[in-house]
Amino acid sequence: MPRAIIAIVVIALGSPLTLFPQAPHYDLLLKGGHVIDPANQIDEVRDVAVFQGKIAAVEKNIPLDQAAKVVDVSKLYVTPGLIDIHFHVGHGGAPLNWFAPDARAHTAPLGIPADLALQSGVTTIVDAGTSGAETFLQEKEEVIDHARVRVLAFLNIVANGMNGGLEQSLDQMDSKLCADTIKKYPDVIVGVKTAHYWTRESWDAEHVPWAAVDRAIECGTIANVPVMFDFWPRPERTYADLILKKMRPGDIHTHVFAQQFPVILPEGKINPILAEARARGVIFDVGHGSGSFWFRNAVPAQKQGFVPDSISTDLHMGNYTVVSMNSVMSKFLAMGVALDDIIRRSTVNPAHEIHRAELGTLSVGKDADIAVLELMKGHFGYIDCGVAKMDADVRLTARMTIRAGRILYDPSGLSMVQWEKARPQYFTTPDHGDSLPARADDFPRD
Ligand SMILES: [Zn+2]
Repeated sequence: MPRAIIAIVVIALGSPLTLFPQAPHYDLLLKGGHVIDPANQIDEVRDVAVFQGKIAAVEKNIPLDQAAKVVDVSKLYVTPGLIDIHFHVGHGGAPLNWFAPDARAHTAPLGIPADLALQSGVTTIVDAGTSGAETFLQEKEEVIDHARVRVLAFLNIVANGMNGGLEQSLDQMDSKLCADTIKKYPDVIVGVKTAHYWTRESWDAEHVPWAAVDRAIECGTIANVPVMFDFWPRPERTYADLILKKMRPGDIHTHVFAQQFPVILPEGKINPILAEARARGVIFDVGHGSGSFWFRNAVPAQKQGFVPDSISTDLHMGNYTVVSMNSVMSKFLAMGVALDDIIRRSTVNPAHEIHRAELGTLSVGKDADIAVLELMKGHFGYIDCGVAKMDADVRLTARMTIRAGRILYDPSGLSMVQWEKARPQYFTTPDHGDSLPARADDFPRD
C-alpha cells in the first residue's frame, strides 16, 4: 500500500493503533459490566478500558486482545469510584497518649484507617473536621500523605480539632487562622466543618448560640469554600434558622436524618422547610454514623420524595464495625430508591458538593477510580441508630475497587487466575530477598 494511502487510512480510522490490533494498548479491560456513570448519563452494559492510570475508553464492545489484562465483570455493576464526604481519619486534638493522667481529654482518637473505605468501592474520602488549623499538618503527614484511597478534608473551625477537649472554646474558633490554613492546602482541604458545639449547657457570655456556626461561615466566606454543619437545634438556635437563614447556597447539612431534626411534622408530612432550604441551594447529606440515621425520619421523607443529595457514612472508631458505605447505600435501596439514583448521590453529587468535578465520573482521561458492585437478592436486615430494624431483600456490596488504575481491593479474586493455572513463577519458592515474588501476575495491586 502506498504511504499516502496508509496515511489516509490512519486518519480515517482515527488511530494508527487500529492497524496493529495485536499490540494491547490498554492495561486493563473490565468486560461486560453494567456501567452506571450518572455524570455521563450512561446506564447500560459497556466495557471500560484503563491505560496508565486513566480511563481510556467506555465503549459497547472493546476486543479482548486490546488489553493486557481482562476482567470479566458481567452481571456486576461498574461505577465511578464512590465518594464518601463524611469520614474520620487521624486523631485530631486527641493526644496520642490519651490515657496519660495529665492528658487534657481522655477521649480516644476518632479516626480509623483511611484505606478501610476501599472495602466499599470508595476511592475518595473526605475527613469531616477531625483536625483543625493546629492539628491538620500532623493529620496530613501521618495519614493523608500515606493513604492509598484519596483523602481530602473539611477543616474544623476549632483549631485543635475534635476530641482534644477544646471544642467548646470560643478562642479556638479563629476564622482567619482557619481560612489561612485552607488557602495553604488547596489540593487537600475542600471546606470547613463545625460540630458538637454547646448542645445542652446553659448559655453564657462565653457561649452564645450561634458562635460556632457564625465563625465557620466566616471562615468559609474568606476561603471561598463550603461549610459542613453538624448541628444540635435548641430553642434559641432553631433548625429552620440554620437552613433558611444561616447556611449559604452550597453549604452542607450533614446528619439530616438524625433524631434531633424536625424532618417529619407530627401529622406525618415532611417539613416544608427542607424544600425551602433546597430551593435556596442548601445541600443535605446523610452522615449516618452511630447517632444520625433514623428510619422514622428517612422512610417517610423518601416516600414524600426527599432523598439527601449525598450519601456518606461518618465512619469513626465508634461505628466502623457496623457502618460502611455499602450498608448505608443498601438502606436507601431497601427504602425504594433506584440504584442509579443511589450511585448519583455517591459519586457525581458529592464530587460537585466539594467542588471536585473531575471526580465521581468515568469520563475518558480522568483518574481510573472505579468500583465494581454486586446487587444481591436474599434476606437481609438493616438497623438504624435508634436500635430499630428494617427487613429487606436487596444488598449492595463491593467486589472490586480500583484507584488510579491499580486494583486495591479484590477479595474474591475477580481479577485473578485460578491457582492451578497460574504461571510458573507462582509455583516457585523464593530462596532470597531478590527472588521474583511467587505471584500469579504483576498487575499493580498496592
Ligand atoms: Zn462526623
